[in-house]
Amino acid sequence: MASRTDLVEELMSRFPQVPREAVIKEDLLRGGLAFDDSALTDNEHGDVKPKSYFIFSFDHRTLPELGTAALRRPPEEIVLTGGPYELRRTVVSVRTNPGSPYRVRTDGDGRLRLFLDDRPIADVGLPPMPAYYRHTLANGKSVMEVAPTIQWGYLIYLTAFRVCQYFGAKEECQYCDINHNWRQHKQAGRPYTGVKPVDEVLEALEIIDRHDTDRASQAYTLTGGSITSQVGGLAEADFYGQYARAIEERFPGRWIGKVVAQALPRADVQRFHDYGIRIYHPNYEVWDKRLFELYCPGKERYVGREEWHRRILDSAEVFGPRNVIPNFVAGIEMAAPHGFSSVDEAIDSTAEGLRYFMSRGIAPRFTTWCPEPTTPLGRANPGGAPLEYHVRLLEVYRATMDANGLSSPPGYGPAGPGRAVFSVSSFMDTLPSAQS
Ligand code: SF4
Repeated sequence: MASRTDLVEELMSRFPQVPREAVIKEDLLRGGLAFDDSALTDNEHGDVKPKSYFIFSFDHRTLPELGTAALRRPPEEIVLTGGPYELRRTVVSVRTNPGSPYRVRTDGDGRLRLFLDDRPIADVGLPPMPAYYRHTLANGKSVMEVAPTIQWGYLIYLTAFRVCQYFGAKEECQYCDINHNWRQHKQAGRPYTGVKPVDEVLEALEIIDRHDTDRASQAYTLTGGSITSQVGGLAEADFYGQYARAIEERFPGRWIGKVVAQALPRADVQRFHDYGIRIYHPNYEVWDKRLFELYCPGKERYVGREEWHRRILDSAEVFGPRNVIPNFVAGIEMAAPHGFSSVDEAIDSTAEGLRYFMSRGIAPRFTTWCPEPTTPLGRANPGGAPLEYHVRLLEVYRATMDANGLSSPPGYGPAGPGRAVFSVSSFMDTLPSAQS
Protein backbone atom coordinates (compact mmCIF):
# COMPACT_ATOMS: atom_id res chain seq x y z
CA MET A 1 0.00 0.00 0.00
CA ALA A 2 1.27 3.47 -0.90
CA SER A 3 2.36 5.53 2.09
CA ARG A 4 1.30 9.10 2.80
CA THR A 5 4.79 10.16 1.76
CA ASP A 6 4.22 8.47 -1.61
CA LEU A 7 0.95 10.36 -2.04
CA VAL A 8 2.49 13.71 -1.15
CA GLU A 9 5.48 13.21 -3.44
CA GLU A 10 3.33 11.95 -6.30
CA LEU A 11 1.21 15.13 -6.13
CA MET A 12 4.29 17.34 -5.83
CA SER A 13 5.61 15.86 -9.04
CA ARG A 14 2.26 15.91 -10.90
CA PHE A 15 1.58 19.54 -9.96
CA PRO A 16 5.00 21.23 -9.96
CA GLN A 17 3.37 24.65 -10.38
CA VAL A 18 1.73 24.32 -6.93
CA PRO A 19 4.32 25.18 -4.25
CA ARG A 20 5.48 22.13 -2.30
CA GLU A 21 4.78 24.06 0.86
CA ALA A 22 1.10 24.20 -0.09
CA VAL A 23 0.90 20.44 -0.67
CA ILE A 24 2.23 19.72 2.83
CA LYS A 25 0.12 22.46 4.39
CA GLU A 26 -3.11 21.22 2.80
CA ASP A 27 -2.37 17.67 3.94
CA LEU A 28 -1.79 18.88 7.50
CA LEU A 29 -4.96 20.95 7.47
CA ARG A 30 -7.21 18.22 6.08
CA GLY A 31 -5.80 15.41 8.21
CA GLY A 32 -4.27 17.01 11.29
CA LEU A 33 -1.04 16.27 13.12
CA ALA A 34 0.06 14.57 16.32
CA PHE A 35 2.29 16.01 19.03
CA ASP A 36 4.67 14.28 21.34
CA ASP A 37 4.14 15.51 24.89
CA SER A 38 7.45 17.37 24.67
CA ALA A 39 6.02 19.54 21.87
CA LEU A 40 2.96 20.71 23.82
CA THR A 41 2.67 24.10 25.54
CA ASP A 42 2.34 25.13 29.17
CA ASN A 43 -0.98 26.76 28.31
CA GLU A 44 -1.00 30.46 29.19
CA HIS A 45 1.95 30.15 31.56
CA GLY A 46 4.74 29.15 29.19
CA ASP A 47 6.77 30.67 26.37
CA VAL A 48 4.72 29.24 23.50
CA LYS A 49 1.39 30.62 22.32
CA PRO A 50 -1.26 27.97 22.95
CA LYS A 51 -4.18 26.95 20.76
CA SER A 52 -7.08 29.26 21.65
CA TYR A 53 -10.00 27.37 20.07
CA PHE A 54 -11.00 30.64 18.50
CA ILE A 55 -14.32 29.46 17.01
CA PHE A 56 -14.50 25.78 16.01
CA SER A 57 -12.51 22.95 17.57
CA PHE A 58 -10.49 22.30 14.42
CA ASP A 59 -9.44 18.98 15.98
CA HIS A 60 -9.90 15.41 14.78
CA ARG A 61 -10.79 14.17 18.23
CA THR A 62 -12.95 15.51 21.04
CA LEU A 63 -11.16 17.09 23.99
CA PRO A 64 -11.55 14.01 26.26
CA GLU A 65 -9.89 11.91 23.50
CA LEU A 66 -6.86 14.16 23.14
CA GLY A 67 -5.03 12.92 26.23
CA THR A 68 -2.22 15.20 27.36
CA ALA A 69 -3.03 17.66 24.56
CA ALA A 70 -6.29 18.44 26.37
CA LEU A 71 -4.39 19.39 29.53
CA ARG A 72 -1.41 21.07 27.94
CA ARG A 73 -2.64 22.71 24.78
CA PRO A 74 -0.81 22.33 21.49
CA PRO A 75 0.52 25.54 19.91
CA GLU A 76 -1.89 27.77 17.97
CA GLU A 77 0.20 27.41 14.84
CA ILE A 78 3.52 26.02 13.72
CA VAL A 79 5.95 27.31 11.14
CA LEU A 80 7.75 24.86 8.85
CA THR A 81 11.08 25.35 7.11
CA GLY A 82 13.78 23.30 5.38
CA GLY A 83 13.89 19.53 5.29
CA PRO A 84 14.12 17.30 2.19
CA TYR A 85 11.55 19.44 0.33
CA GLU A 86 13.47 22.63 1.19
CA LEU A 87 10.32 24.28 2.48
CA ARG A 88 10.16 28.03 2.62
CA ARG A 89 8.61 29.50 5.77
CA THR A 90 5.08 28.08 6.00
CA VAL A 91 2.60 28.94 8.75
CA VAL A 92 0.09 26.18 9.50
CA SER A 93 -2.86 26.25 11.87
CA VAL A 94 -2.80 23.35 14.33
CA ARG A 95 -5.49 20.70 14.00
CA THR A 96 -4.78 17.91 16.43
CA ASN A 97 -5.05 14.28 15.35
CA PRO A 98 -3.27 11.69 17.52
CA GLY A 99 -3.66 9.16 14.67
CA SER A 100 -1.98 11.28 12.00
CA PRO A 101 1.16 10.10 10.16
CA TYR A 102 2.47 13.64 10.77
CA ARG A 103 4.03 14.07 14.20
CA VAL A 104 5.87 16.95 15.86
CA ARG A 105 8.64 15.83 18.19
CA THR A 106 12.24 16.54 19.08
CA ASP A 107 14.88 14.63 17.13
CA GLY A 108 18.07 13.08 18.50
CA ASP A 109 19.76 16.51 18.48
CA GLY A 110 17.00 18.09 20.52
CA ARG A 111 15.58 20.00 17.55
CA LEU A 112 11.84 20.19 17.05
CA ARG A 113 10.96 18.55 13.72
CA LEU A 114 7.92 17.49 11.77
CA PHE A 115 8.00 13.80 10.93
CA LEU A 116 5.94 12.16 8.19
CA ASP A 117 5.82 8.37 8.29
CA ASP A 118 8.66 8.58 10.86
CA ARG A 119 10.95 10.57 8.55
CA PRO A 120 11.84 14.19 9.40
CA ILE A 121 10.49 16.51 6.71
CA ALA A 122 10.77 20.01 8.23
CA ASP A 123 12.11 22.07 11.09
CA VAL A 124 9.31 23.31 13.34
CA GLY A 125 9.13 26.79 14.81
CA LEU A 126 6.62 27.61 17.54
CA PRO A 127 4.78 30.91 18.01
CA PRO A 128 6.24 32.87 20.92
CA MET A 129 3.84 33.85 23.69
CA PRO A 130 2.78 37.39 22.81
CA ALA A 131 3.30 40.00 25.53
CA TYR A 132 -0.42 40.84 25.54
CA TYR A 133 -1.35 37.24 26.47
CA ARG A 134 0.51 37.72 29.76
CA HIS A 135 -2.02 40.31 30.90
CA THR A 136 -5.58 39.84 32.07
CA LEU A 137 -8.70 41.96 32.04
CA ALA A 138 -9.79 43.61 35.30
CA ASN A 139 -12.28 40.76 35.83
CA GLY A 140 -9.50 38.18 35.49
CA LYS A 141 -10.38 36.94 31.99
CA SER A 142 -7.47 36.27 29.70
CA VAL A 143 -6.81 38.14 26.47
CA MET A 144 -6.58 34.74 24.77
CA GLU A 145 -10.17 34.03 25.76
CA VAL A 146 -11.60 37.40 24.73
CA ALA A 147 -9.43 38.46 21.78
CA PRO A 148 -7.11 35.67 20.58
CA THR A 149 -4.79 36.32 17.67
CA ILE A 150 -4.04 33.93 14.83
CA GLN A 151 -2.11 34.05 11.57
CA TRP A 152 1.13 34.57 13.45
CA GLY A 153 -0.35 37.55 15.27
CA TYR A 154 -1.75 39.30 12.17
CA LEU A 155 -5.46 38.77 12.90
CA ILE A 156 -7.42 39.37 16.12
CA TYR A 157 -10.26 36.88 16.10
CA LEU A 158 -13.33 38.18 17.90
CA THR A 159 -15.93 35.43 18.15
CA ALA A 160 -18.49 37.63 19.88
CA PHE A 161 -21.16 34.92 19.99
CA ARG A 162 -19.76 31.45 20.64
CA VAL A 163 -22.83 29.48 19.61
CA CYS A 164 -25.12 29.43 16.59
CA GLN A 165 -28.87 29.77 16.52
CA TYR A 166 -29.00 27.24 13.73
CA PHE A 167 -29.29 24.41 16.19
CA GLY A 168 -29.64 20.65 15.86
CA ALA A 169 -29.54 18.29 12.90
CA LYS A 170 -32.21 20.09 10.90
CA GLU A 171 -30.50 23.49 11.00
CA GLU A 172 -26.80 23.29 11.83
CA CYS A 173 -24.43 23.25 8.91
CA GLN A 174 -23.37 19.64 8.56
CA TYR A 175 -19.63 20.32 8.78
CA CYS A 176 -19.70 22.83 11.67
CA ASP A 177 -18.94 22.06 15.33
CA ILE A 178 -19.38 25.55 16.81
CA ASN A 179 -22.12 24.41 19.18
CA HIS A 180 -20.35 21.21 20.14
CA ASN A 181 -17.12 23.09 20.69
CA TRP A 182 -18.86 25.47 23.08
CA ARG A 183 -20.34 22.51 24.99
CA GLN A 184 -17.05 20.62 25.26
CA HIS A 185 -15.19 23.62 26.64
CA LYS A 186 -17.93 24.21 29.18
CA GLN A 187 -17.85 20.54 30.17
CA ALA A 188 -14.08 20.69 30.60
CA GLY A 189 -14.50 23.66 32.92
CA ARG A 190 -12.58 25.98 30.61
CA PRO A 191 -13.50 29.66 30.44
CA TYR A 192 -15.47 30.05 27.22
CA THR A 193 -17.70 33.12 27.16
CA GLY A 194 -20.93 32.55 25.18
CA VAL A 195 -21.58 36.24 24.48
CA LYS A 196 -18.60 38.56 24.86
CA PRO A 197 -19.55 41.89 26.41
CA VAL A 198 -18.50 44.86 24.28
CA ASP A 199 -16.52 46.48 27.09
CA GLU A 200 -14.51 43.26 27.61
CA VAL A 201 -13.62 43.24 23.92
CA LEU A 202 -12.52 46.88 24.11
CA GLU A 203 -10.45 46.19 27.22
CA ALA A 204 -8.71 43.24 25.57
CA LEU A 205 -8.01 45.33 22.47
CA GLU A 206 -6.51 48.05 24.62
CA ILE A 207 -4.11 45.50 26.10
CA ILE A 208 -3.19 44.27 22.63
CA ASP A 209 -2.74 47.81 21.34
CA ARG A 210 -0.49 48.69 24.27
CA HIS A 211 1.75 45.62 24.12
CA ASP A 212 1.82 44.86 20.38
CA THR A 213 4.58 47.39 19.97
CA ASP A 214 5.82 46.08 16.62
CA ARG A 215 2.26 46.22 15.29
CA ALA A 216 2.06 42.62 14.16
CA SER A 217 -1.73 42.75 14.54
CA GLN A 218 -3.17 44.37 11.45
CA ALA A 219 -6.80 43.26 11.28
CA TYR A 220 -9.68 42.00 13.37
CA THR A 221 -12.52 39.70 12.45
CA LEU A 222 -15.88 40.04 14.14
CA THR A 223 -17.83 36.84 13.93
CA GLY A 224 -19.74 34.09 15.67
CA GLY A 225 -22.81 31.98 15.13
CA SER A 226 -25.73 33.06 13.01
CA ILE A 227 -28.52 34.94 14.75
CA THR A 228 -31.98 34.06 13.49
CA SER A 229 -33.90 35.80 16.26
CA GLN A 230 -32.04 38.05 18.70
CA VAL A 231 -29.15 38.08 21.16
CA GLY A 232 -29.42 40.59 23.99
CA GLY A 233 -32.41 42.11 22.21
CA LEU A 234 -30.47 42.67 18.98
CA ALA A 235 -30.81 41.08 15.55
CA GLU A 236 -27.67 39.89 13.74
CA ALA A 237 -26.56 43.12 12.05
CA ASP A 238 -27.14 45.18 15.20
CA PHE A 239 -25.50 42.59 17.43
CA TYR A 240 -22.25 42.35 15.45
CA GLY A 241 -22.50 45.99 14.39
CA GLN A 242 -22.37 47.22 18.01
CA TYR A 243 -18.84 45.80 18.36
CA ALA A 244 -17.73 47.35 15.08
CA ARG A 245 -19.06 50.74 16.08
CA ALA A 246 -17.46 50.62 19.52
CA ILE A 247 -14.08 49.43 18.19
CA GLU A 248 -13.94 52.02 15.44
CA GLU A 249 -14.95 54.81 17.83
CA ARG A 250 -12.29 53.81 20.33
CA PHE A 251 -9.51 52.83 17.86
CA PRO A 252 -10.34 54.53 14.56
CA GLY A 253 -8.51 52.81 11.71
CA ARG A 254 -6.05 50.99 14.04
CA TRP A 255 -6.93 47.64 12.44
CA ILE A 256 -8.65 46.56 9.22
CA GLY A 257 -12.17 45.70 10.39
CA LYS A 258 -13.80 42.59 8.97
CA VAL A 259 -17.15 40.96 9.66
CA VAL A 260 -18.12 37.36 8.97
CA ALA A 261 -21.91 37.26 9.06
CA GLN A 262 -24.78 35.87 7.07
CA ALA A 263 -25.58 37.37 3.68
CA LEU A 264 -27.78 40.14 5.07
CA PRO A 265 -30.10 42.59 3.34
CA ARG A 266 -28.44 45.63 1.86
CA ALA A 267 -29.49 48.07 4.61
CA ASP A 268 -27.82 45.86 7.25
CA VAL A 269 -24.67 45.58 5.16
CA GLN A 270 -24.63 49.34 4.75
CA ARG A 271 -24.65 49.71 8.55
CA PHE A 272 -21.55 47.52 8.86
CA HIS A 273 -19.84 49.76 6.35
CA ASP A 274 -21.02 52.94 8.06
CA TYR A 275 -19.58 51.70 11.36
CA GLY A 276 -16.15 51.41 9.77
CA ILE A 277 -15.97 47.76 8.73
CA ARG A 278 -13.91 47.44 5.56
CA ILE A 279 -14.25 43.77 4.58
CA TYR A 280 -17.41 41.67 4.53
CA HIS A 281 -17.43 37.86 4.47
CA PRO A 282 -20.93 36.54 3.62
CA ASN A 283 -19.78 32.93 3.35
CA TYR A 284 -21.48 30.79 0.70
CA GLU A 285 -19.94 27.56 2.12
CA VAL A 286 -20.36 25.30 -0.93
CA TRP A 287 -21.30 26.16 -4.50
CA ASP A 288 -23.35 23.17 -5.68
CA LYS A 289 -27.07 23.80 -5.22
CA ARG A 290 -28.00 20.33 -4.01
CA LEU A 291 -25.09 20.18 -1.59
CA PHE A 292 -25.85 23.65 -0.20
CA GLU A 293 -29.41 22.57 0.49
CA LEU A 294 -28.24 19.38 2.20
CA TYR A 295 -25.27 20.79 4.09
CA CYS A 296 -26.64 24.19 5.14
CA PRO A 297 -30.29 23.41 5.92
CA GLY A 298 -30.71 26.41 8.23
CA LYS A 299 -29.31 28.88 5.74
CA GLU A 300 -31.37 27.33 2.97
CA ARG A 301 -34.55 27.57 5.02
CA TYR A 302 -34.08 31.09 6.40
CA VAL A 303 -32.44 32.78 3.40
CA GLY A 304 -32.11 30.36 0.49
CA ARG A 305 -29.17 29.87 -1.85
CA GLU A 306 -30.29 32.17 -4.66
CA GLU A 307 -31.12 35.00 -2.27
CA TRP A 308 -27.80 34.42 -0.49
CA HIS A 309 -25.92 34.86 -3.76
CA ARG A 310 -28.01 37.90 -4.71
CA ARG A 311 -27.14 39.53 -1.40
CA ILE A 312 -23.43 38.84 -1.93
CA LEU A 313 -23.63 40.74 -5.21
CA ASP A 314 -25.63 43.55 -3.56
CA SER A 315 -23.03 43.90 -0.83
CA ALA A 316 -20.36 44.46 -3.48
CA GLU A 317 -22.15 47.72 -4.31
CA VAL A 318 -21.73 48.81 -0.68
CA PHE A 319 -18.19 47.60 0.06
CA GLY A 320 -16.76 47.44 -3.46
CA PRO A 321 -16.30 43.99 -5.00
CA ARG A 322 -12.71 43.62 -3.83
CA ASN A 323 -13.79 43.99 -0.21
CA VAL A 324 -16.48 41.32 -0.34
CA ILE A 325 -14.73 38.01 0.28
CA PRO A 326 -17.16 35.12 0.78
CA ASN A 327 -15.65 31.93 2.14
CA PHE A 328 -16.32 28.36 1.13
CA VAL A 329 -15.30 25.23 3.02
CA ALA A 330 -12.96 23.46 0.63
CA GLY A 331 -13.44 19.72 0.59
CA ILE A 332 -17.04 19.25 1.69
CA GLU A 333 -17.96 18.92 -2.00
CA MET A 334 -16.43 15.44 -1.76
CA ALA A 335 -17.97 14.31 1.52
CA ALA A 336 -19.85 11.02 1.40
CA PRO A 337 -22.63 10.10 1.03
CA HIS A 338 -23.96 13.07 -0.96
CA GLY A 339 -20.82 14.74 -2.31
CA PHE A 340 -19.11 14.27 -5.66
CA SER A 341 -17.30 10.99 -5.92
CA SER A 342 -14.69 12.17 -8.43
CA VAL A 343 -12.16 14.95 -8.02
CA ASP A 344 -12.93 16.13 -11.57
CA GLU A 345 -16.60 16.72 -10.78
CA ALA A 346 -15.84 18.45 -7.49
CA ILE A 347 -13.28 20.77 -9.07
CA ASP A 348 -15.63 21.56 -11.98
CA SER A 349 -18.41 22.52 -9.58
CA THR A 350 -16.18 24.62 -7.35
CA ALA A 351 -14.63 26.33 -10.38
CA GLU A 352 -18.09 27.26 -11.63
CA GLY A 353 -18.70 29.12 -8.37
CA LEU A 354 -15.31 30.82 -8.58
CA ARG A 355 -16.05 32.00 -12.11
CA TYR A 356 -19.50 33.25 -11.06
CA PHE A 357 -18.05 35.52 -8.39
CA MET A 358 -14.66 36.36 -9.86
CA SER A 359 -16.19 37.47 -13.19
CA ARG A 360 -18.00 40.08 -11.08
CA GLY A 361 -14.83 41.22 -9.35
CA ILE A 362 -15.52 39.31 -6.12
CA ALA A 363 -12.73 36.95 -5.05
CA PRO A 364 -13.98 34.22 -2.70
CA ARG A 365 -11.49 32.55 -0.41
CA PHE A 366 -11.56 29.16 1.24
CA THR A 367 -10.64 27.39 4.41
CA THR A 368 -9.61 23.75 4.25
CA TRP A 369 -12.27 21.46 5.67
CA CYS A 370 -11.36 19.84 8.98
CA PRO A 371 -13.64 16.81 9.45
CA GLU A 372 -14.41 17.31 13.12
CA PRO A 373 -15.72 14.07 14.66
CA THR A 374 -18.90 15.48 16.21
CA THR A 375 -20.28 16.77 12.90
CA PRO A 376 -22.32 14.59 10.52
CA LEU A 377 -19.89 15.08 7.63
CA GLY A 378 -16.83 14.57 9.83
CA ARG A 379 -18.22 11.36 11.31
CA ALA A 380 -18.90 9.94 7.86
CA ASN A 381 -15.59 11.15 6.38
CA PRO A 382 -12.88 11.08 9.06
CA GLY A 383 -10.15 11.30 6.42
CA GLY A 384 -11.58 14.47 4.88
CA ALA A 385 -11.37 15.11 1.14
CA PRO A 386 -8.66 13.65 -1.12
CA LEU A 387 -5.41 15.61 -1.10
CA GLU A 388 -5.57 15.74 -4.89
CA TYR A 389 -8.77 17.81 -4.63
CA HIS A 390 -7.06 20.37 -2.40
CA VAL A 391 -4.00 20.61 -4.64
CA ARG A 392 -6.06 21.01 -7.80
CA LEU A 393 -8.27 23.60 -6.12
CA LEU A 394 -5.21 25.77 -5.50
CA GLU A 395 -4.37 25.50 -9.18
CA VAL A 396 -7.86 26.38 -10.43
CA TYR A 397 -8.23 29.16 -7.87
CA ARG A 398 -5.12 30.93 -9.07
CA ALA A 399 -5.98 30.36 -12.75
CA THR A 400 -9.48 31.81 -12.29
CA MET A 401 -8.07 34.81 -10.48
CA ASP A 402 -5.58 35.38 -13.29
CA ALA A 403 -8.26 34.99 -15.96
CA ASN A 404 -10.31 37.69 -14.28
CA GLY A 405 -7.44 40.06 -13.60
CA LEU A 406 -7.75 39.75 -9.81
CA SER A 407 -4.98 39.81 -7.24
CA SER A 408 -4.68 38.53 -3.68
CA PRO A 409 -7.45 39.89 -1.46
CA PRO A 410 -6.95 42.67 1.10
CA GLY A 411 -6.79 41.90 4.81
CA TYR A 412 -4.79 38.67 4.56
CA GLY A 413 -1.25 39.92 4.94
CA PRO A 414 1.46 39.11 2.43
CA ALA A 415 0.96 36.56 -0.35
CA GLY A 416 3.40 34.05 -1.77
CA PRO A 417 5.31 30.98 -0.67
CA GLY A 418 7.61 31.79 2.21
CA ARG A 419 5.66 34.96 3.05
CA ALA A 420 2.01 34.09 3.70
CA VAL A 421 0.62 34.04 7.24
CA PHE A 422 -2.94 32.94 6.50
CA SER A 423 -2.95 29.63 8.30
CA VAL A 424 -6.21 27.75 7.61
CA SER A 425 -5.70 27.16 3.91
CA SER A 426 -2.77 27.68 1.58
CA PHE A 427 -4.41 29.92 -1.01
CA MET A 428 -2.23 32.84 0.10
CA ASP A 429 0.90 30.64 -0.07
CA THR A 430 0.03 29.87 -3.68
CA LEU A 431 -0.61 33.36 -5.06
CA PRO A 432 2.33 35.35 -6.42
CA SER A 433 4.04 37.55 -3.87
CA ALA A 434 4.30 40.48 -6.28
CA GLN A 435 0.53 40.88 -6.00
CA SER A 436 0.41 41.25 -2.23
S1 SF4 B 1 -24.26 29.25 10.18
FE1 SF4 B 1 -23.51 27.16 9.92
S2 SF4 B 1 -21.26 27.37 9.71
FE2 SF4 B 1 -22.03 29.28 10.61
S3 SF4 B 1 -21.84 28.96 12.82
FE3 SF4 B 1 -23.95 28.38 12.25
S4 SF4 B 1 -23.87 26.17 11.92
FE4 SF4 B 1 -21.75 26.94 11.90
